[in-house]
Amino acid sequence: MGNPKAFLTVPRKEAGYRPVHDRIHDFGEVEQTLNTHDRQEQASRCMDCGVPFCHWACPLGNKDPEWNDALCRGEWEMAYKILKKTNPFPEFTGRICPALCEKACVLYHTTGEAVTNRENECAIAEHAFLEGYVTIEHPNRNGKKVAVVGSGPAGLAAAQELNYMGYEVTVYEKNEAAGGLLRYGIPNFKLNKQVIDRRIRVMEQEGITFHYGEAISSVAMLSQQYDAVVLATGTPTARDLNIPGRSLKGIHLALEMLSQQNRILAGMEFSREELVTAKGKDVLVIGGGDTGSDCIGTAHRQGCKSVTQIEIMPKPPVGHNPNTPWPQWPVILKTTSSHEEGCVRRWNINTLEFVGKDGKVVGVKVQEIDWKPNPDGGRPLMVEKGNPETIKADLVLLAMGFLKPQHPEYAENVFVCGDAASGASLVVRAIASGKKVAMEIDQYINKK
Ligand SMILES: Cc1cc2nc3c(=O)[nH]c(=O)nc-3n(C[C@H](O)[C@H](O)[C@H](O)COP(=O)(O)OP(=O)(O)OC[C@H]3O[C@@H](n4cnc5c(N)ncnc54)[C@H](O)[C@@H]3O)c2cc1C
Ligand code: SF4
Repeated sequence: MGNPKAFLTVPRKEAGYRPVHDRIHDFGEVEQTLNTHDRQEQASRCMDCGVPFCHWACPLGNKDPEWNDALCRGEWEMAYKILKKTNPFPEFTGRICPALCEKACVLYHTTGEAVTNRENECAIAEHAFLEGYVTIEHPNRNGKKVAVVGSGPAGLAAAQELNYMGYEVTVYEKNEAAGGLLRYGIPNFKLNKQVIDRRIRVMEQEGITFHYGEAISSVAMLSQQYDAVVLATGTPTARDLNIPGRSLKGIHLALEMLSQQNRILAGMEFSREELVTAKGKDVLVIGGGDTGSDCIGTAHRQGCKSVTQIEIMPKPPVGHNPNTPWPQWPVILKTTSSHEEGCVRRWNINTLEFVGKDGKVVGVKVQEIDWKPNPDGGRPLMVEKGNPETIKADLVLLAMGFLKPQHPEYAENVFVCGDAASGASLVVRAIASGKKVAMEIDQYINKK
């Protein structure tokens, strides 16, 4: 530990976002960076606690105190070496991880100001690419072949681990480029897609083969052609809202807009009929989570007239929630960079009906509700409050999560990971799951 008292004297300092008036006119990353001195000073706040919980909270088991220590002493290469032992893609998690480790940080629990682990992680990863610490490895081949279906964070992590173990890895991806939701879900203002391209170039140079535009329809056939198959196909089915008026024009699943916008930024063109745009429109986002927030930021950049986000659940408390005590994840009010850009947020709102005119949506009839404890002890009961109202909207985006995929019984050499196994989750969990499956495959093949 570089400075044992830094946590007493150095306050938490976040790099913060670019100013709203500047950032809403482009899709560049909103988060800024600290200078080297400040970044190292932030790392010095990590106090090498007797029992650091951040290890445990991070699904990858990242050794935050160890790399923070190297970082605060200016040993950036050492910090990267420690980080890459547990995290194959710190440049992704460093940008978009909700930082489960920070909510487990002893400083968070004592002062409310966790060490800036996520930002430190991103800085270490970026420094590593800049200074050439990210080297190309050429593992010895063991003569066995593995197919990976899906190139989201889970598939990429499995592919990278298996490649390092000596397997010949082929990734099959139905989209035109790699990344899964990193590329076709998460907006560029949170994750610049060149960051994915840069990593894929390294993986290709290390010997992994990528086939794009190939949707695998027969896992059984693949399992006969390869020693093992990784199924990392994510959660393809979004939750829909089948209420009256659903067939009106102007109602879309969130990913229809988000993935199209990312493709436009990658140079793809869409016809007027295909285009899902918020330009000049009153936008209603149904769903109060992160996907909904990404829709808000995208709508702003497309030039919407207004954005409203509604959520059926109650507004979470600010700062601390006694119902989700440590070590549970604190369910507290989250205000993202997109919310800061302007948005009406409402909770306890149920959606009744889409209202249309000439086949197009013009509003959504909603009902304010309350949640009452269930006397039978089950799920709380929904009770109506007041009269229904209509929210004006000519673009409605459904951001209500994804259905957990159901899988048939596969051959014994097929291993499912990431969101495909768990249901919709987080990038860090998908990476951890991909790594775990790679180990299981290695054990399975060695046993055989
Ligand atoms: C809008 C949005 C924003 C998000 N923001 C965040 C965030 O900020 N932080 C965070 O931690 N998490 C975020 N998430 C969640 C995160 O993106 C996912 O948990 C993660 O990407 C799951 O990784 P995965 O590899 O399991 O699946 P995916 O990323 O979904 O990748 C699955 C891949 O499999 C491919 N595929 C599917 N079927 C086939 C087939 N038959 N043949 C070939 N290829 C196939 C798909 O094309 C896709 O590329 C967000 C999710 C969404 C939707
Ligand atoms: S991956 Fe996420 S939880 Fe793990 S150390 Fe990084 S920011 Fe923290």
